[in-house]
Amino acid sequence: MTTDLLSRKADFPGMVTADGKPWHYLDTAATSQKPQAVVDAMSRALGRDYATVHRGVYGRSAEMTLGYEAARRRVAGFVGGQEDELVFTRGATEAINLVAATWGAANLNPGDRILLSVLEHHSNIVPWQMLRERTGVEIDVCPLTEDGRIDIDAARQIVDKRHKLLALSHVSNVLGSRLDVAAAADLAHSVGAKLLLDGCQAVPRLTVDVAALGCDFYVFSAHKLYGPTGIGALWAKRELLQAMPPYQGGGSMIDRVTFEKTTWADAPQRFEAGTPAITEAIAFAAAVDYVEAIGMDAAERHEMALTAKAREELGRINSLHLFGPEDSAGIVSFTMDGIHPHDLGTILDEENVAIRAGHHCAQPLMEHLGVPATARASFGIYSDEDDIAALIRGIERTIRIFG
Ligand code: PMP
Repeated sequence: MTTDLLSRKADFPGMVTADGKPWHYLDTAATSQKPQAVVDAMSRALGRDYATVHRGVYGRSAEMTLGYEAARRRVAGFVGGQEDELVFTRGATEAINLVAATWGAANLNPGDRILLSVLEHHSNIVPWQMLRERTGVEIDVCPLTEDGRIDIDAARQIVDKRHKLLALSHVSNVLGSRLDVAAAADLAHSVGAKLLLDGCQAVPRLTVDVAALGCDFYVFSAHKLYGPTGIGALWAKRELLQAMPPYQGGGSMIDRVTFEKTTWADAPQRFEAGTPAITEAIAFAAAVDYVEAIGMDAAERHEMALTAKAREELGRINSLHLFGPEDSAGIVSFTMDGIHPHDLGTILDEENVAIRAGHHCAQPLMEHLGVPATARASFGIYSDEDDIAALIRGIERTIRIFG
């Protein structure tokens, strides 16, 4: 099942070590490697195509503006949205902060409530806490099922008319567990609340269609989708976005400025103050072209097959404890008796295997799991069974070293 994508490794210049050996990169959930097509698109945009957008009267700038707006269309379309519903941000973190600071500050009042879950990334916790300081809104935390999914049945017992927002991860960056989005959307809308999905880990792994999902806000980062750092996206329903006040002030987000009064541009420009990440947007679209050519169905099947294989092989190691559900989407977290994840990560690095060790910006989840840290192996479209074999060899060597 995984073989159709094995040849993809050659597309990624970062998949070898400095001395030309295979590099077993298993930290895609943190950030993905980039295909040459993305590197080339960024290089062209920074080189022979480079100019500013939205201002220049000369041909190159007009061309670049068309490229930048085409990138917006491309990225929006990739998640089933329209171009006027998509704001380019610095990443998912900024997108959540934007929603909290604009929609949140304008619509939430003391006594209103937000539902988060135990497994959220810090970037889907801290902005809401900062909003709590500003507005007096309250935060509730949805528990998890035994196997590490957001427990929607439990959420039903918590959520009532006071809830104005459910902000949940579509796929957990630690456990790989998927949200039952249809149930979450039904629940949110049954009390008149909005649903924000953190799609950082879902967009690179699943077919995402915001209309079919029924969410109100969807956020993700390009660098986890084989694109560059420094850019991400907020998709929001048109009527929500049009009604939201601006985030930052400056050039490009205005209609007219006088010292007495300034009026705002329409969305999405209203939310993109200053010169945007032009080259990153172009490369973001190139990343979308790359994954669409493979097909998200194939990418999902590939990662599911690798995850199942990894869980099976890791599960055979007695001193190893796996977290998360069986059908985890491309992300496997585990701990080992008597070996700290950092020590494991360091020894694996000697074997050219790169995993993540730590709290993965999910300290409340670590507390819930009763561990200070986990080791995490996460896959991408370039991962293959050799990577799993190298991981298992490295773990066995670590067990020998630690006796
Ligand atoms: N949410 C999740 C689930 C993530 O995995 C990450 C990145 N680790 C983020 C949010 C934040 O993304 P970024 O750092 O690209 O803004």
